[in-house]
Amino acid sequence: MTAPKKLCVIGWPVAHSKSPVIQNAMIAALGLDYEYLCQPVCPGELAAFLDRAKAEGYAGFNATMPFKEELLPYLDGLDPLAEKLGAVNTVCIKHGKLYGYNTDCPGYVAALREAGFDPAGKRALLLGAGGAAKAVALGLAQAGAAVTIANRTAQKAAAVAALAPDIMSTTSWSPDALARAAVEADLLVNCTSLGMEGQGEFADLSFLAALPQGALVSDLIYHPAETALLRTAKAQGHPAMNGLPLLVWQAVFALRHFTGVEFDLQFAGDAAKAALAKEGFA
Ligand code: NAP
Repeated sequence: MTAPKKLCVIGWPVAHSKSPVIQNAMIAALGLDYEYLCQPVCPGELAAFLDRAKAEGYAGFNATMPFKEELLPYLDGLDPLAEKLGAVNTVCIKHGKLYGYNTDCPGYVAALREAGFDPAGKRALLLGAGGAAKAVALGLAQAGAAVTIANRTAQKAAAVAALAPDIMSTTSWSPDALARAAVEADLLVNCTSLGMEGQGEFADLSFLAALPQGALVSDLIYHPAETALLRTAKAQGHPAMNGLPLLVWQAVFALRHFTGVEFDLQFAGDAAKAALAKEGFA
């Protein structure tokens, strides 16, 4: 009997990653011959890891902080979407060559659609302009939503908007400007780290009151499962979505890249969600 093909997640730190739980649950449910491991890689040891992964016959890996951008020069091929974002979270290894993809972008759109929200023709107000914001903004724009970006550091918001200037714009990071932009928004997405344990809280959530009735409020954070932003939005009658669906869908798309198998995406996603629920994540 041959050993299962190896996959892993790399990062520093990475022990907290839920990727092994999610991926192994999908692999088992789909009956695939892979195993998914957790590989801490220190900053400065990326090249050594890549040599080892090739030598040990890894089929691929996911990358989290701090490697999403650092990987680019090592890749033999780059998906056009990942190239535009300048970041990869999924790398496939084929015949000793590395191919990079970004699955956060389609993953977020799939999470929205699963929640019954089709971005086409909608207006989104996006808070933040870091790595996750870039992927979410581009995903929304490519799915046909007009995106307004607000970030504490204005230049970073402008850089994200430059990815699709015909459909993205910026506004300033002030309660008044946020409230003005919220009036027209069908979707509000928090892509900042505000609300995450130990990362500080929004000083002012008054902009939520300006959202139209029924606007979806989404937070990329899933720990805690319900941030103050989501709690307040729900109390005001808005539908709310935390970061778990993104976590699941980016993993579903990554597994499809790794295996090349056209499996049932929803079936795989449901298996991942069930495994997360068993660990207390919902
Ligand atoms: P990042 O690149 O470090 O960006 C952090 C963002 O938060 C920046 O826009 C930053 O603004 C803003 N920010 C940080 N502290 C702030 C403060 N005190 N006041 C106002 N803005 C502040 O991080 P990232 O990778 O994009 O991740 C952002 C969030 O998304 C994190 O909470 C992360 O856990 C979550 N995430 C979730 C998933 C998922 O699968 N659900 C995936 C990726 C990320 P400046 O530009 O002004 O510094």
